[in-house]
Amino acid sequence: MRNPIGGHVPVAGGLAKIGLGYARELAAETVQVFVANPRGWATPPGNPAQDELFRSECAAESIPAYVHAPYLINFGSHTEATVERSVLSLRHSLRRAREIGALGVVVHTGSATGGRPREEALAQVRTHMLPLLDELTHDDDPFLLLESTAGQGSSLCSRTWDFGPYFEALDFHPKLGVCLDTCHIYAAGHDLTGPAGMRQTLDLLVGTVGEGRLKLIHANDSKDVVGAHKDRHENIGAGHIGAEPFRELLAHPATEGVPLIIETPGGKEGHAADVARLKELRGAH
Ligand SMILES: [Zn+2]
Repeated sequence: MRNPIGGHVPVAGGLAKIGLGYARELAAETVQVFVANPRGWATPPGNPAQDELFRSECAAESIPAYVHAPYLINFGSHTEATVERSVLSLRHSLRRAREIGALGVVVHTGSATGGRPREEALAQVRTHMLPLLDELTHDDDPFLLLESTAGQGSSLCSRTWDFGPYFEALDFHPKLGVCLDTCHIYAAGHDLTGPAGMRQTLDLLVGTVGEGRLKLIHANDSKDVVGAHKDRHENIGAGHIGAEPFRELLAHPATEGVPLIIETPGGKEGHAADVARLKELRGAH
């Protein structure tokens, strides 16, 4: 199929048992999981039996899996302790991703806190994130996927062109990719609606990072209007983006083979409905 469609799944109680059980109820063709508390710094070891089961079941069912790194990570922080913890936390997510057979780790691009200039924050991204990319030397190591934000505060990357300096800071490392969140990019100011909105935004992204870098899409509608800089996800077709731009997205050459993960509200029923809606929009591709 052109684009596997699935969702972020809960894993408390077992990565395979709970996570893949939930995925089946969504009829998900791809999954995203946390391997640590997303609002903490802990780096738990995982359960080898569940890891093995998760990896083998995903392989048997051809389900591409992804890890979302914790939200506290910020390589642009002016607080040294935060940067140190960010390194440990992201290294943990990358290692755990390999252990469970995940293809990529999504990390937020962060912000330049403490009023520091953006260039300084990006230099710090280079110092601390590039070595983690260089550690990815195994064939089955995941990609590191940068997810831009809705552009709140002193965000380092929210518009498509902001990926340029970020990729430059990381030497366009071969293990580097992009996770495009449709809600975030819309909230950041890219109008995805209208006959060409989605196409132009995807063209801009490819123009900045090059072909083949878009590895994952977070398919979320937005509760807020374009440019609102608010990160509030809505169910597909129920927000300000609407359903049509997702049809455009699913037909754009840059998304060929790229999985879509929903991170929408509504619990299991809402998630199943969103997965079904996106599959409809995918059509016969
Ligand atoms: Zn997202």
